[in-house]
Amino acid sequence: MKVLFVANEVAPFAKVGGLADVAGSLPPALAELGVDVSVVMPLHRQCRVDDSAPALGSLEVRGPHETRLASVLLAELGGSGVPVYLIRYGPYFDRPEVYGPGGGDYPDSPQRYAFFARAALALIPALGLDPDAIHCHDWPTGLIPAFERLSPLGRPTVYTIHNLGYQGQFDLGVAPRIGIDPASEAMRLVQWRGHVNYMAAGIRSATVLSTVSERYAQEIQTPDFGEGLDGLLRGRAADLYGIVNGIDYEQWDPATDPALPDHFRRGAISGKQVCKAALQREMGLPVDPDVPLVSAITRLAWQKGLDVLAQVLPRAVKLPIQFVLLGTGEPALEDSYRLLGRQHPGEMAINIRYDERLARRIYAGSDMFVMPSRYEPCGLGQMMSMAYGTVPVVQATGGLADTVVEASTEPTGFVFYGLAADDLLFALERAVLAFRDRARWETLVARCMAQDFSWTESARKYADLYETAVARHGGRT
Ligand code: ADP
Repeated sequence: MKVLFVANEVAPFAKVGGLADVAGSLPPALAELGVDVSVVMPLHRQCRVDDSAPALGSLEVRGPHETRLASVLLAELGGSGVPVYLIRYGPYFDRPEVYGPGGGDYPDSPQRYAFFARAALALIPALGLDPDAIHCHDWPTGLIPAFERLSPLGRPTVYTIHNLGYQGQFDLGVAPRIGIDPASEAMRLVQWRGHVNYMAAGIRSATVLSTVSERYAQEIQTPDFGEGLDGLLRGRAADLYGIVNGIDYEQWDPATDPALPDHFRRGAISGKQVCKAALQREMGLPVDPDVPLVSAITRLAWQKGLDVLAQVLPRAVKLPIQFVLLGTGEPALEDSYRLLGRQHPGEMAINIRYDERLARRIYAGSDMFVMPSRYEPCGLGQMMSMAYGTVPVVQATGGLADTVVEASTEPTGFVFYGLAADDLLFALERAVLAFRDRARWETLVARCMAQDFSWTESARKYADLYETAVARHGGRT
């Protein structure tokens, strides 16, 4: 099975959120199962590519009004042997942000991702790739299934929804600018409720659909979580699968992580105390092993429920806890956290930036990791924190509900239902009480570290899904 994997962010080359982690770790897991997978992404300014990366030459991308000349660089995903083709086209991708400022879009985002879709498809004949299926991710790739559906030689497509809250929805006037004739069949695929909608195009057109947890696959078929697309998704329920994300435990291992001041593993946890003291010192918080350190590493977006956390924190620090935030995003949320940091020196440390190495020190040095998400397709933060012996405190939604349990003989965290401030505070209280019981806490930490969210099983499900896509596509033609 040959698969072309198309994504806008792929770690370690460019990362905004969890999509990059998935696109960087699922392909090597697929390769281990014998899937012949190649990855395509744009060469964003933030892409860290070796100077020695071979240039594969130029790529003609035929658009609606003109042919543009891009070029292609070849890199490799870690030492996995998985090739990554980076499409270099400076006017669209050599920009300060991957998506746009403040978590939003650039004004020409529709053109950027129409171009990327065409470039990814142009790469197939240019390099003789000949994939059996194309695996597309989130709205920036939503036009690819539509283009393939309309092409006589179109290939089977798998379209994975990582976050339905970002749809690539634009005014109808965009259509001619991205080469879609308002009277065409393509328009029927991309139009949704008076807009051009890239996510809707992907959902309508792909051979099969998936999303990143079983719970979220159910949730998005309801009006509460469907973001206006639930009807469309219910119509495709027979083709929609939930496959939970994994993490790469070689990349996320506190026993070897070079970003940490000390190392630890399940059963030999003393290094975690060293990491905690170092983090407290680095963050300007009192160095005290007995105060629980609670952290959040997150995009600052409405989705993440951080407005509610901000309301709760002034009361939570009285439990007492210390709080560390690492995040960037919506300017209003950035401001409200900066203000909290100023009002609570020695209790809260607020870091408004993107910093992968600091993220690792925080996962390792914290006792608890809070994710009060309004919705969470899968969530990786809770998995990474558990791997680093940090106990998650989560709202029961999507992948968080699938991966963290409290009401169990073998709990792995603290779970609250609905985003009421008092319920979040009460969950933090339960966590703090558990922390004070040393034996109970050690058991909980060890259980978190024993959780296995590796890719093995989920990668096998994706491999099966590619077979399903090929079979259904065959049936259609
Ligand atoms: P989402 O994909 O919605 O952003 P996830 O929990 O699935 O949320 O994944 C978020 C990923 O991004 C995690 O790997 C997390 O550690 C990382 N991350 C988020 N914000 C930052 C930041 N400011 N600095 C470093 N890493 C971050």
